[in-house]
Amino acid sequence: MEYQRTVADKVIFEGEGIYSGKEIRVEIHPLGENEGIVFERSDLPHRPRIKLSLKNAIALEGAVLLTDGTHEITLIEHLLSALHGLQIDNALIRVFGEEIPLLDGSTLLIVRKIQESGYRLLPAARRKYLLRKPFSMENGVGRIKFKPSSRLMIHATINFDHPVIGLQSLDFTATPRDYINEISFARTFGFKRILEERKRQGIIKGGNLSNAIVLDEEKVLNKEGLRSKDEFVRHKILDIVGDLFTIGYPLVAEIRADMSGHKLHLDALKTMYEAGYLEEVESRALTFLWVPKRKRSPI
Ligand SMILES: [Zn+2]
Repeated sequence: MEYQRTVADKVIFEGEGIYSGKEIRVEIHPLGENEGIVFERSDLPHRPRIKLSLKNAIALEGAVLLTDGTHEITLIEHLLSALHGLQIDNALIRVFGEEIPLLDGSTLLIVRKIQESGYRLLPAARRKYLLRKPFSMENGVGRIKFKPSSRLMIHATINFDHPVIGLQSLDFTATPRDYINEISFARTFGFKRILEERKRQGIIKGGNLSNAIVLDEEKVLNKEGLRSKDEFVRHKILDIVGDLFTIGYPLVAEIRADMSGHKLHLDALKTMYEAGYLEEVESRALTFLWVPKRKRSPI
């Protein structure tokens, strides 16, 4: 049997919110079995809590938002990616502001801090969603296909007409070790002219070269350069791992994503969920009882 997990101890990180421009603290606390991932607006009176679920998740342009209809927390997708990637089933996320800080644009810091805290196994079988039948969706820009499988596998492709990015694709089979080594370091990226435009419009107030890979028409503007040549497609996988977790449990499926984004990911999940494509299961391994053959005693 695979047991549910939570963090062993409180995990704290802090950083500037790119939408609000405010310094925001986030704490990840242990939670008991079957409690799931619960967010809390710890900066508001009565500290309202919002449970992670598909119905509470909304895809915005370039971000995922969690809301109960009254309160909201933006930019949850990278934190969700770290929790999903490290197979944390239950946790209370206390957020002292309206968004999760972007940090360096990857999940490296969150992953390191969770690893330092360690994990606690809980006395209940891990719950997952299995896919009953294939499903695919496209939206004019991107396409995503889901196939039944016994493990989560993601094949992602991106194609940008830009000298540094171009065509990139990568296969990822989800295990915590591969998530830590292959995916967690990959930063989000943005184009300078679009970021400047959004700042002018007042959509974003913070954000600089320490929060993302920033590109102009022909090169990377960050002095330190890229962490890997294919950092862009690795970040796409990081985003997919995060978005998938908006269902609340890990989804077990083989996924092919081609130029997909948050909106397509959430639309596909909501459609599959409502159409009954997803089957909730407990991960109880079959237990075989081995009984040694009794030696025949001579008569
Ligand atoms: Zn991202």
